[in-house]
Amino acid sequence: MNSQELFDRSQKVAPGGVHSPVRAYRSVGGTPIFFKSGEGAYLESVEGRRYIDYCMSFGPLILGHRDPVVQSKVEEMIRTAWSFGACEPYSLALAEKIKTWAPHIEKLRFVASGTEAVMSLIRVARAATGRKYVLKFNGCYHGHADGMLVKSGSGLAGEASSDSAGVSPEAARETLVAELDREEDVERIFKAHGHEIAAVLVEPVPANYGLLPQRIEFLRFLRDITAKHGALLVFDEVISGFRVAKGGMAEVTGIRPDLCAYGKVLGGGFNVAAYGGPAKLMDWVAPSGPVYQAGTLSANPVGMTAGLASLERVEALGGLDQLHASARGFAQSLQALFDRTDWNLQVTEFRSLFWFHERREKPIRALGDLPAGQKESFAKLFHALAEEGVYVAPSGFEVGFMSFAHTPEIQAKTLTAFEAAGKKLR
Ligand code: PLP
Repeated sequence: MNSQELFDRSQKVAPGGVHSPVRAYRSVGGTPIFFKSGEGAYLESVEGRRYIDYCMSFGPLILGHRDPVVQSKVEEMIRTAWSFGACEPYSLALAEKIKTWAPHIEKLRFVASGTEAVMSLIRVARAATGRKYVLKFNGCYHGHADGMLVKSGSGLAGEASSDSAGVSPEAARETLVAELDREEDVERIFKAHGHEIAAVLVEPVPANYGLLPQRIEFLRFLRDITAKHGALLVFDEVISGFRVAKGGMAEVTGIRPDLCAYGKVLGGGFNVAAYGGPAKLMDWVAPSGPVYQAGTLSANPVGMTAGLASLERVEALGGLDQLHASARGFAQSLQALFDRTDWNLQVTEFRSLFWFHERREKPIRALGDLPAGQKESFAKLFHALAEEGVYVAPSGFEVGFMSFAHTPEIQAKTLTAFEAAGKKLR
């Protein structure tokens, strides 16, 4: 069966034919490619076409598909057990490893998705502060818990309205929304609600609405204003954790958040996420404290093993600096190609994350700075690249992920594919 036939069938059994919306190609049009296997930097479609993959399962696969060392450890685990629902040593090993990578995390709790991590840490923040509001930023994604599916409301003091049907106005009203990169916006909201804000959540390198690296002064400002008002600062490091540095953006910026959410790289491609912070906050969580949170498959041993094996493998391959240098070199070569061919495209790159957009003189840091035609121009680029055997996430607002499996030869092939795609498009 080809992708079209599979998609026709899928639409009869799943909403929109998919189990997560972006996969349906609504943003780029056309029929989603169905993939049957992955190896290293490559995906293979059911039609037998090979693609160099820069989506990498939206971030977890920092080593590429099926890294052989990780695979053999996972296979060994599966031969041993694949779920206990009881105490076991595998989650302990991963938790202790995380503490060596991110020493600001004293205690953590494993969960099964980034959504769950954020949802749970908000509960902790509310319990620990006795306050109800959380403040998030326009364009940051923190998973799909009700209170996180909000957009800026009518304008006054950051009030939010729901961004999804089925979220009650009451749930949406407990979230306040500010613009990234705008200190004055955050100040205005704190002026109105400062004593009621439990936590400020931010993706310290926002990567869900394009790639919008923030000024360090802005992140420091968030640290200061939260401390001043007794609110917690939460870094959602689901994308940046274990990727931009061992200790994530907390290490890169030297800013110590109160709580962090992790996912993606942490589980090596399995359903693993976590939230963590100092013991005095994490001990609010049951059974130590009164904040209830649990999970049948939490700390699943297969995921724990994949996570630990992945972090160890990154170390064995020379560490993250190696990956960052490779990604930077690729981004520079791609930009040189855009410049040489007079192609109105720019690459924004940050430590193995990258994003293409129309050229801009100033860095893009907030949603208001986004190029107007991004969706349409990206849709054409997406299909042209796919024709040349390069697969990127099917939306102009998703970022690209470089992995250790993207060797210089594979990167060179990618550049050739871009050049060919560019000729067709212009
Ligand atoms: N937080 C961030 C920054 C994310 O990028 C995502 C997912 O992309 C999430 C939270 C939610 O994670 P999950 O999809 O595992 O629920």
